[in-house]
Amino acid sequence: MATRTLEARLERMSVNDENEYPSQKSKATTQLSQSASRPNLFKVALQTQSSNTVTAVTLPSQAAQRKGAASATAAAQPGSPARKPLPGASSSSSSSWTSEEQTQAAVEQFVYQPKQFHLGMFEIGRPLGKGKFGRVYLARERTSGFICALKVLHKSELQQGRVEKQVRREIEIQSNLRHPNILQLFGHFHDSKRVFLILEFACKGELYKHLRKESRFPEWKASQYIAQMASALRYLHRKHVIHRDIKPENILMGIHGELKISDFGWSVHAPNSRRQTMCGTLDYLPPEMLRSGGSDNWYNEKVDLWSLGVLAYEFLVGEAPFEDTPVMTQRRITKADMTIPSFVSPEARDLIKKLLVLDPEKRIPLDQVQTHPWIIKHCVKGERAANRERSH
Ligand code: ATP
Ligand code: MG
Repeated sequence: MATRTLEARLERMSVNDENEYPSQKSKATTQLSQSASRPNLFKVALQTQSSNTVTAVTLPSQAAQRKGAASATAAAQPGSPARKPLPGASSSSSSSWTSEEQTQAAVEQFVYQPKQFHLGMFEIGRPLGKGKFGRVYLARERTSGFICALKVLHKSELQQGRVEKQVRREIEIQSNLRHPNILQLFGHFHDSKRVFLILEFACKGELYKHLRKESRFPEWKASQYIAQMASALRYLHRKHVIHRDIKPENILMGIHGELKISDFGWSVHAPNSRRQTMCGTLDYLPPEMLRSGGSDNWYNEKVDLWSLGVLAYEFLVGEAPFEDTPVMTQRRITKADMTIPSFVSPEARDLIKKLLVLDPEKRIPLDQVQTHPWIIKHCVKGERAANRERSH
């Protein structure tokens, strides 16, 4: 099919499906509108910080790359909400795109052969979701059959939202990260109106959705998730990338139920604009980010440890530890004022308490998270070994 026809189709979709795929994030969207002062504080601070935060991003090993790519398999998402077929969709319906199709050959061909990407190379499938600036579609590269997620960002919207620079940074950072628990960005291209990001397809969707469905996760599952997050964060921190926006809404799930951190590009450079308009949750904000105004160097990668503690708590309890009115949430965070319910095991309780420490320097470091009794207890040896192996 000619590129122009595909482009026309995408254009049509962006107009037609405006309200069809409401964001599944319901949590705390109203909170921020009630507390507009915090984001500004956040913004000032981040502007001073962002240029120092992300330093050299080196290319990872081919082995890690291979593993990351191999997990980018595709299957129809069982629990996904019914989607309308795309207007003018081609005969090759994306519902028939399965993991069997994602052969190793396709992965090899797609990932290892350097190429100039353009829209005509992809068949576009069902919409996967809609964010503030982008719509995401399932897509298949024609030659290799490689299945991926194509995120379409409109340049005019990026300009209006004043986020072009952030997107550029996001691309720059994310495309150089290879870790099984970090959503991979395979490449990008653009036309006169849009920017396209070629992303690893996380076929089990948002972790947030799974957490809401299950209310809370059993200890073994929460422990394994935290181990995966710790591994991914260690990798990021080694590369001097601070995520700063760890929360269930920013985590996707791969075919084997493995977690994939996404959205870190945004969070590194602009949690402010995102949260102001989209999420607005204060629940994961570390105390040092609330406390220290706009002064320089007032936080470091330890902010992610705090968020990991909040995440562990929310996995186990089903709600964040400081969930309250916006004013009270802030007040409680600055005092680390939380109660862990009695059904949480002593080991998990111990780890949460060691992460949710007000003094960033006193938080338990990631290597010790990985060997914490709660993690050891629930993660089989091979899994941890595999994670270690992959995290270089
Ligand atoms: P924001 O615009 O604030 O980043 P968001 O993270 O929801 O919000 P997108 O990253 O554009 O926005 O993604 C929109 C939705 O599409 C996600 O919430 C998710 O459900 C789905 N999605 C995005 N990327 C993928 C992917 N690689 N694999 C599977 N689903 C995805
Ligand atoms: Mg996103």
